[in-house]
Amino acid sequence: MHRSAARFSSTLGFLMGAVLMLASSSAWAGGGRKVPDLRRDTQEWVRPRAAAAMRIPVTFHLATDSGASVASNRVVQEWVTRANEELSPFGIEVDVVAVRRMPAGWSEVTHWKTRRALAGHAPHDGTVHVFAIEALDEQGRRARRVRGLHWRYRGLAPGLRGREYLVVTREAPTTTFAHELGHLFGLRHASRADNIMCSCRRGQEVGFSLSQGATMREGARRLLARQDAGNLGPSRIARRRDRR
Ligand SMILES: [Zn+2]
Repeated sequence: MHRSAARFSSTLGFLMGAVLMLASSSAWAGGGRKVPDLRRDTQEWVRPRAAAAMRIPVTFHLATDSGASVASNRVVQEWVTRANEELSPFGIEVDVVAVRRMPAGWSEVTHWKTRRALAGHAPHDGTVHVFAIEALDEQGRRARRVRGLHWRYRGLAPGLRGREYLVVTREAPTTTFAHELGHLFGLRHASRADNIMCSCRRGQEVGFSLSQGATMREGARRLLARQDAGNLGPSRIARRRDRR
C-alpha cells in the first residue's frame, strides 16, 4: 500500500511537472509548437465586424472660392480614411452620404455670428454636418488661427435647437477630422502628444486610447439616439477650438 501510494504520488508529481512544462513552453515558445496566435484569434471578437459597427452618416459641405471648392474630394477622402482607421477598432464607422458645394461667402469663418449662421446649413437630417473651409479664426483674432472646431448649440432658440457641426480647414492635418469627431463623441482634450485628442502639434503616429474608445462608442450611440429624437438638452453653446 505504501509503495503504491508513493508510486502514485511520484506519478502525479511527474504529470504535474509535465503539465507545467507544457504550459510554460506554450506560453513562450514560438517555433514548431502549435501556439495559439492570440493577436489573430482575438481580432475576430475584439475588432467588431462591419455589421456590428455603428454607422455615422456624414454630410460634407465644401466651401467655395471663385467657384472652386477650397478642399478637394481627395483631401476629404484622406480625412475620412484616417478617421475610419482610428474609429473602426471601436466599432464606429463614418459613412459619407453626401458632399455638397456651398455658395460663395463661407470659406472663412472668423466671427461667432458666422458660426451661428453656419448652423443653418446643418439641419436635422440624421447626418453629421462637416464644413471644409479655408480658414477659421478664434473670434476674429488671426493670431489664434484654429484648424478645426466642434460646435454645438444647447440654447433655446427654436431654429438652432440641437444644431451641431464640425469644421475642418483645408490645411489641417489628416488627423483633425478624427479629433473633431472625438469631441462630437464626447471626448475632451488629452495631454499626451501621441494621443489624437491632444490639442498640440500632433505627429502622424497618434491614436485613441482604449478608454477613449469606450467613451466614443457610448457617445456615438447617444448621438444616433439624439439625431433620431432631434432634440438636445438645454444649456448653452459649447464649442471647442483647435489650433491644430
Ligand atoms: Zn480639440
